[in-house]
Amino acid sequence: LLPGSVNAEGRIATLGVMGGGQLGRMFVQAAQEMGYYTAVLDADPVSPAGLVSHFHIQTGYEDAAGLAELAERCDAITTEFENVPAPALQTLAASRPVAPAASAVAVAQDRIAEKAHFVACAQAGGVGPAPYAALETEADLAAVGDLLLPGILKTARLGYDGKGQARVKDRAELAAAWDSMGRVACVLEKMLPLKAELSVIVARGADDQVVNFPVQRNLHRDGILAVTEVFDGNVPAELAERAIATTATVARQLGYVGVLCVEYFVIDDGSEHGGLVVNEMAPRPHNSGHYTINACDCSQFELQVRAMAGLPLVQPRLHSPTVMLNLLGDLWFQHGQPVEPPWAQILALPGAHLHLYGKLQARPGRKMGHLNLTGASVEQAQATALRCAELLG
Ligand code: ADP
Ligand code: MG
Repeated sequence: LLPGSVNAEGRIATLGVMGGGQLGRMFVQAAQEMGYYTAVLDADPVSPAGLVSHFHIQTGYEDAAGLAELAERCDAITTEFENVPAPALQTLAASRPVAPAASAVAVAQDRIAEKAHFVACAQAGGVGPAPYAALETEADLAAVGDLLLPGILKTARLGYDGKGQARVKDRAELAAAWDSMGRVACVLEKMLPLKAELSVIVARGADDQVVNFPVQRNLHRDGILAVTEVFDGNVPAELAERAIATTATVARQLGYVGVLCVEYFVIDDGSEHGGLVVNEMAPRPHNSGHYTINACDCSQFELQVRAMAGLPLVQPRLHSPTVMLNLLGDLWFQHGQPVEPPWAQILALPGAHLHLYGKLQARPGRKMGHLNLTGASVEQAQATALRCAELLG
């Protein structure tokens, strides 16, 4: 699907996205830069992506008329929100190419299926997950091995940003936590001693070409991504190679088309660099890849466009060491009073790139935007990030 091409009905090539959040917004912006028209399906009349798209279909994800309109307006469709119901993607796929496919998204939506996929990939030579057990029945609970405690109980579905999780020390806490989650399907994972958290973003085309971004080093605060750092040597080369190879395997074995992010833990296992464990995946561009807009010669959003449109993928090159700071709604309040964050002072810093998502209302914990801080050297990027953190308080 060539950018700017006009079909027999006189319509310019149009890309659609399920979901109108910030990921959808940055996808839409990348698509538009290349000359595509865009359509967003999201019920929110002021969704970040809907506000900047040529077309905004304001319905729920499972609305038959909304899905039909999206399919009619678009030549190819993707998703920006991993909890879009897989059947909705299936409905769209009956008339238009959809990438990633519903079947791949369904695996990422369910931690039990996701872990099983990681185990299969580990058997093919990839990095394996933390020791875990699926918890679906009373018998599963009784069968939990002591090895998994202390552990983290995670709901199999709909968890994000640390939500739907409980840390449990022993069996009594495990049973109580599962009760309080309504005994929905869960996984129990052994609590691991984390040295670092990493993520890898790849893009795979329908022709099986896979390209990757460099390994990202991530810092979370209260379960939400706070900082991503990327520069040459940010991760020992041996760990980076294994994480990248595993991510490519995870994509290939799913028959995945599009941008995929896989999260990893580096655990303290007594070895020099630590051991690598695969944590979870996101079937879409990822918060830890926002730096690619300013620090790479092709962003994760452009690669999503290329993959879904069947255009060539290129191996992206990091041209600047970079630090990404997430901007949460908390920054819009001081002592409970609304304030404007000090953008003028921040934008006076060389290498500071501000991205706000156009959300009208700031709320604590809400992702409002991010800052990409690039520099000629790691030290420069880090110094700018530190200065921003001071200015933001
Ligand atoms: P979410 O979907 O909320 O991102 P994650 O599985 O990534 O869920 O867990 C959120 C955070 O909790 C991780 O980034 C990590 O800091 C911590 N965490 C998750 N699993 C483990 C574990 N098995 N051992 C130690 N820390 C963990
Ligand atoms: Mg996570």
